[in-house]
Amino acid sequence: MSKQAKLDQIAAEIVKNNVCPDLAKQAKHLVFGEGSPNAKVLFIGEAPGKKEDETGRPFVGASGKFLTELIEGIGLERKDVYITSILKYRPPNNRDPKPAEKEAFWPYLLAQIEVIQPEVIVTLGRHSANCFLPELKIGHEHGKPQKWQGWTILPLYHPAAALYNGSQRQIIITDFAHIRALTHGNNKSLS
Ligand code: URA
Repeated sequence: MSKQAKLDQIAAEIVKNNVCPDLAKQAKHLVFGEGSPNAKVLFIGEAPGKKEDETGRPFVGASGKFLTELIEGIGLERKDVYITSILKYRPPNNRDPKPAEKEAFWPYLLAQIEVIQPEVIVTLGRHSANCFLPELKIGHEHGKPQKWQGWTILPLYHPAAALYNGSQRQIIITDFAHIRALTHGNNKSLS
């Protein structure tokens, strides 16, 4: 079975297993993730917002526009990487994800990681980083590679943070530059 077919199967299981039925009921779409199933770089956000819910695609709203700029700023395109979030359904009114919701989606995120086999997992925001490394303080550890169960994790601020806090914009741009150094092989082709 191809990697894409395996990813499609994981998405189907989320629906079949009725994960987070309260969120599912209110959501217009499942936002499973998109990009290259062979990506060396996997971005993991927190949860879909309004635009993502409307389109079924991750990071297509305001913070997604900035994430796309950041990806292109290191010489990649969205199709070269894989982008997803911890929660695959939008929480009502964009409230923070609840611990039980993060736990419910966790096995499916791990399954995505197992299929993609990324060289670096880039967590976007505190919620995403703390799912892997509960003790991590994003204010201290952003941009510093961490090890988790054999995977390399690069914790970054959420791009939305830069939309509300101008000084974080430069921090995210600087931290992003570490991504290339964490992948092996030909720098021109990270997928
Ligand atoms: N923020 C996220 O964490 N994920 C999205 O898909 C969009 C915004």
